[in-house]
Amino acid sequence: MTDSISLNPHIVALPPYNAGMSIGAARRASGHHSIARLASNENPDGCSPAVLAALAPAMLEPWRYSDPACTVLREALGEHLATDPHRIVVGNGSEEMIGALSRALLLPGEHVVTVTPSFGLHEIEPRAMGAPVLKIPMTSDLNFDLPAILEALSRRPKLLMLSSPWNPVGPALSPAGLDAILATMGRETVLVFDEAYFEYADEATRVDGVATLAATDVRYVVLRTFSKAYGLAGLRVGYAVCSDLQIADGIRKAKTPFNVNVAAQTAAIAALGDQAWMKASVARTRAERERVASSLRDMGYGPAASQTNFLFFQCHCDSTIAADRLLKEGVVVKPWREEGYERFLRVTIGHPDENDRLLLALRTLTVGTAPPV
Ligand SMILES: *Cc1c(COP(=O)(O)O)cnc(C)c1O
Repeated sequence: MTDSISLNPHIVALPPYNAGMSIGAARRASGHHSIARLASNENPDGCSPAVLAALAPAMLEPWRYSDPACTVLREALGEHLATDPHRIVVGNGSEEMIGALSRALLLPGEHVVTVTPSFGLHEIEPRAMGAPVLKIPMTSDLNFDLPAILEALSRRPKLLMLSSPWNPVGPALSPAGLDAILATMGRETVLVFDEAYFEYADEATRVDGVATLAATDVRYVVLRTFSKAYGLAGLRVGYAVCSDLQIADGIRKAKTPFNVNVAAQTAAIAALGDQAWMKASVARTRAERERVASSLRDMGYGPAASQTNFLFFQCHCDSTIAADRLLKEGVVVKPWREEGYERFLRVTIGHPDENDRLLLALRTLTVGTAPPV
């Protein structure tokens, strides 16, 4: 075809979403059968056996449409979070909720503030709506630049999108940091507080967005997911907890009706019911995270402080070159490509043997080259 049709220019201008390499592609590219897939922040422990039992064929009715309101799951979540289930909307992953809330809340030209480096969809979904996105760079010690975020808030954006703990960097916003944001925000700004890694953060110091924000009068959407600590990435279930029914109804209208399939709803209810499995998995991951972080520091890499299931650090060369060399050892990591951060790698914490493979491969990467700075 030689003629072309006009496309939505906001869509044409979007940067691509940078998804982790599949196991199949990694096998073909590396020649290794066994692959350490440390690029997508998946749970190396899998998921609770209660989930697999609930998905047994006799219990599933794939021929039925799923409940568009996710009633049973929302009631279970309402109880788990001590929140009115009417303020919860469940999505096909929390990423669907980022798209739906952008459609519900943004008009073309309204502006959005987020951070950089960032989770791609925090920029992509607002821009798809024609909303310009201001990105506040992290500080040189790899943390939130709170004064710059507060300064951007004083310009009254429609949305402030933050993940905390922060993908891809790792730290969580402190309670004092969140308080400063809440004190600066006006009622015309909606805080989108993406807590995809909430479960991995230290219980003693972590901010609980659902509880903390409910006690304020700001407008907000807290996002959580079953993809990480609960190990259901492939089934796609995440949810939005909204400050009020107006925002919840807007998101509900903007999502597709049968967005969360029967298997996903069943699995999420079972996963939520097995807190013991999730907590044990989180404890294993945290212990491995500290071990890997300490080895990285010994090697001269300075990973950012992490409250998540991944580590973010600068390598001594372009991240794509480093990732290609690690792939030759059968280790898949995420080379960061956002402008200004092309020398950073994000590595997911895997099983101890996968992490050992990563550390060994990183050692060979530095042999014969200048130490990283
Ligand atoms: C992984 C992740 C999500 C989760 O996405 P799902 O669609 O629920 O799998 C959302 N936000 C951030 C910041 C993430 O890292």
